[in-house]
Amino acid sequence: MTFDKLGLCEEILRAVREQGYRSPTPVQAQAIPRILEGRDIMAGAQTGTGKTAGFTLPMLQLMQKNRPSGQRPVRVLVLTPTRELAAQVGESVATYGKYLSLRSTVVFGGVGIQPQISKLRRGIDILVATPGRLLDLAGQGAVDLSQVEMLVLDEADRMLDMGFIHDIRRVMKLLPDRRQNLLFSATFSNDIKKLAGGILHKPVLVEVARNETAGQVSQVVHHVAKSQKRALLSHLISTGDWRQVLVFTRTKHGANRLTEQLGRDGIQAAAIHGNKSQTARTRALAGFKSGDVRVLVATDIAARGLDIDQLPHVVNYELPNVPEDYVHRIGRTGRAGRSGEAMSLVSAEEMKLLAGIEKLIRRKVPVAEVEGFDAAASVPEEGGRRSDMPRARRGSAAASPARRRRRRRSAVARG
Ligand code: AMP
Repeated sequence: MTFDKLGLCEEILRAVREQGYRSPTPVQAQAIPRILEGRDIMAGAQTGTGKTAGFTLPMLQLMQKNRPSGQRPVRVLVLTPTRELAAQVGESVATYGKYLSLRSTVVFGGVGIQPQISKLRRGIDILVATPGRLLDLAGQGAVDLSQVEMLVLDEADRMLDMGFIHDIRRVMKLLPDRRQNLLFSATFSNDIKKLAGGILHKPVLVEVARNETAGQVSQVVHHVAKSQKRALLSHLISTGDWRQVLVFTRTKHGANRLTEQLGRDGIQAAAIHGNKSQTARTRALAGFKSGDVRVLVATDIAARGLDIDQLPHVVNYELPNVPEDYVHRIGRTGRAGRSGEAMSLVSAEEMKLLAGIEKLIRRKVPVAEVEGFDAAASVPEEGGRRSDMPRARRGSAAASPARRRRRRRSAVARG
């Protein structure tokens, strides 16, 4: 299958060729022709499947074909859960639409609203937005959504997880009844089905690797005590000479702390999470993409939708509470035909979470061991005491040879 068979115009094919894409991914091959026919779509596709181009390419074509002369009312609305994803979708629209004469812009919170209002005033065909800022703009009369012909809900499951359901419903009220609707979601929970039922009209179902992790991603688990995770991570990064690693932590505080600790180990790291300003996040991401920052430490919400090409390593420093998030996380690597490695550092407390993940992905994740980091250290000790208590409080009698080696090493590192 090649892109020319999908019914896309030459201007779009040229932009796609420039990206170096040789053939459409499965979600693109399935979704593009149906979207061009004007059908509603319900697509089960996670990040890394090429879903963004899957809806952007046909959307651009339809909008270019039916472009009204004169005024430019917003004709496409793309809703995304996070600012980062909005920015990335906006970039894709600009990239694939570079040979077309359509105008697009991205609006999200956390940055000044005035420049966004000015841009909207000049006329925009395609608007990419997060729900909250969009409603602010609509409330101020800065955007008219009454001419929208196409609505895209990107990462709809995440929008629901983040509590955007009421905002989505409020946005719906601002749209005309007749329009084409595309819904993308990594998972199809009952809530998603309910949302889709109220929005989509006779949708075509496109399902790609639902609840399955991308085939090219090799996954491993390291059983390790909580207190040993940072040392193991530094060790893996240094000995493997990893240059670009995305590390997930469960909390913002944890992300900050790990970033500082890695810095002390001489590993350039930056944190990206909800408490960081937009400027700080953009700077961290730019540093990571350019190679100045070796490790990007992120929480799930902040990392959602980050589009980083050829990301070779993803580390779950802590397992997520929700098994689906594991699938999202490791979707950052092994994208669109490239190989990648996803590694999870699992302590004794997290065994239940691991079981939940393995049930969801319907396979056991292979266990890897690293010399000096013994799995036994993560198993609970007698009397409920865990071996990952602060080292200073553990008697030397309890120390395994491996642990003694590590102590020696960290003493050397500190000295
Ligand atoms: P997405 O799932 O939309 O986040 O896309 C994941 C990555 O795949 C992005 O970095 C795209 O640039 C890339 N990509 C999208 N379509 C293709 C394709 N047909 N061939 C190769 N790479 C692609």
